[in-house]
Parts: sequence; C-alpha cells; structure tokens
Amino acid sequence: MLRKTVLEINLKALEYNFNQINSKTRPSTKLMAVVKANAYGSDIIRVSKKLESLNVDYFAVAYAPEGVMLREAGIKTPILVLIPQVNSFSQIVDNNLEPSLYSFFFLNNFISFLKEKNIKKYPCHFKINSGLNRVGFKKEEIGKAIDLVKKCELIHIVSVYSHLAASEDISENKFTVKQIKTFTDLASKVSSQVSSRPMLHMSNTSGILNYPECEFDMVRCGIGLYGYSNFLDKSLVPVHRLRTVISQIIKVKKGETIGYNRSFKSIKPSVVGIIPLGHADGISRSFSKGGFVIINNFKAKIIGNICMDVFMVDLNGIPAKEGDEVIIFNQTHTAEDFAKEVGTISYEILTNLSPRISRKIID
Ligand SMILES: *Cc1c(COP(=O)(O)O)cnc(C)c1O
Repeated sequence: MLRKTVLEINLKALEYNFNQINSKTRPSTKLMAVVKANAYGSDIIRVSKKLESLNVDYFAVAYAPEGVMLREAGIKTPILVLIPQVNSFSQIVDNNLEPSLYSFFFLNNFISFLKEKNIKKYPCHFKINSGLNRVGFKKEEIGKAIDLVKKCELIHIVSVYSHLAASEDISENKFTVKQIKTFTDLASKVSSQVSSRPMLHMSNTSGILNYPECEFDMVRCGIGLYGYSNFLDKSLVPVHRLRTVISQIIKVKKGETIGYNRSFKSIKPSVVGIIPLGHADGISRSFSKGGFVIINNFKAKIIGNICMDVFMVDLNGIPAKEGDEVIIFNQTHTAEDFAKEVGTISYEILTNLSPRISRKIID
C-alpha cells in the first residue's frame, strides 16, 4: 500500500512515445532526445539510459553540468549543450560535450580556450536566431561568426540549427512558415561555407507534429517523449504520475479560516484534507488560486494558500479517510489538466517537481 508521496516514471510509456515520435518522421531522420532539467522533472539518468538502449541518436541538455551527469553515468551517445556558459569550457571538452555556438562572447572565448589547449576540430553546433529572439546568431551576424570559425580552424560544425517560436500555436502559422523559410535560407548559407555538410534541425515536439516540412536531418523532442504536446496528441502517453496520501483530516466550523493569511473562509462546517506536498515540492503557490486533485474518483478542490510542505483540499461530500490515495496527476488527469486550472503548462509543472519527491521507476 502507498504510504508516501511518489513520482512514478513509466519507462514503458517513454518507450511507447519514443516509437510514436519516430513513426511520425522519415526513417532517415535522426531523433535528438531533450533531457534537460532532470529529463523534465523525472530522472535524467534512468530516462537517458532507457533512451540510449532504444538507440536514440543524440541527447540535448541546457547546461554543461547536465551533460557531465550523463557522462558520469556512462552515457556514450553524443550530447548537445544548448546554452553552454563561458565558465564551462573544461567540463565541455573533458566530457566530450558538444556546445552550441550562439554569441560572439561565447565563440571568441571558446576559440581562445581551444587554442590554449591545442584542441582541433572540436564538434560544435551553430545556432541561428530565426525569429524567437532568444539565443543564436542573427542573420546579419552569421557571416562574421562563420569567418571566425573558419579562420581559427579549431572547430568542426556538426550541425546548424534554430528553434521555433510558436510551433504549438496554429494561429501563428504564417509566422512559423516564414520562420522555417528564414532558417532554410540562412542554414544553406552557413552550410555552403563549411567543409563537410552539417546536419540541419529546427523542430521541437509541436514542430514535429504540426510542421512535417520542418524535419530536415534531425528533430529535437522533449515534452513529446514525456507524453505531452501542447494540444495533447492522443497518440502519446504521459510518463509521470504523481500520487500521495491524505495525511490528516480535520473539521472546521462555519466562519473559521484555513491556512496562512486566512485566505480561505469556510462558509459552512467543513471537512478538510491535509495533503503532504507543498511549494517546496514544486506545487506552485499559484495553486492557491484553484486547481484540484483526485481522491477516490472525486475532484477535491485545493483551498487556502499552498504552504511549503502541505496544501489543503475541500473534502465535503467526498468519502475519504486518512491514508487514502491522492492523485495529483496521472494518465487521465494529466499534468496538463492540472496545469491548466491555474494558467500554466505541463512543462512548468513537471520541471518544478523537486528532488524531495521520491522517484519510482516503472519498467
Ligand atoms: C527545450 C528545447 C527543445 C525541446 O522542446 P519540446 O517542446 O519540449 O519538445 C528543443 N529545442 C530547444 C532549443 C530547446 O530549448
């Protein structure tokens, strides 16, 4: 019997999603699994080992220390570091991580480092800003950046890539089509300048689902592997399931208030459940505004402010006793459903899940 909070990570569902995503692209198209932020709040090591056993082509992490964790766990697959910082050059080369080149500040410093260490042909990925206006070289900077790369003769450009700004948003279709065109033009300019033809890639999960013309040589899949797309493609299965138990049940009289700042006032005698999860576990304080969990197949509304370690639910009319199971999200009441109640997205719910919650791997 469940006695505590558990985040289940279903590797069978992960495998299923991996196969689903692969079946949506051409057989020759490579798949890069995005495992940043502890594999979207799950377990970066177990998830990456599973994906490596399924012959994933590439991994992507945001920062170098995430890549170091993978190498220390014995992962051999190539790893792209999306937003490497200038303090991590040693970590990058010592662990055979492949950095994005995305700014002159990063590029110049990295070239100096390679020179100093006498390292040649280091594998790197050239990042183009095609309209998201986040990291990457803009159109007018590309010529100069490529000149620097060519002149130093220390860098091997493995791929040229960019990131879509609104691939999940059908109302932004015109913008996205234009963004793909911009990337195609700029990437071919870069390709023509370097000796061996680099791979091109642009799509994230919703790009894969909504823009097949954006496949190029590889796709980068994050949230889809964990079972979500922004409009919940029914062919994917959520990997995360978060459950806990009712810690205590209390009764309050009409007019009493519940929790910090007395933000919830009981308008009738009420039954209140104390749930052992709080904002320190990743249940954001914004859930004080609403949201619900599932208890014995009933929707139990969150009431009062979310505390650091617990939150409270309204148990009026719900048959429940201390020790009963509480589902925060699972395959049917998904993290996306949970998120929607307070205007956020599954990405934020998942990546917020703190290390205090114990993970249980299902395989
Ligand atoms: C996080 C990230 C992805 C993955 O996006 P999903 O929507 O989770 O598939 C892909 N590419 C880049 C550059 C990213 O930062």
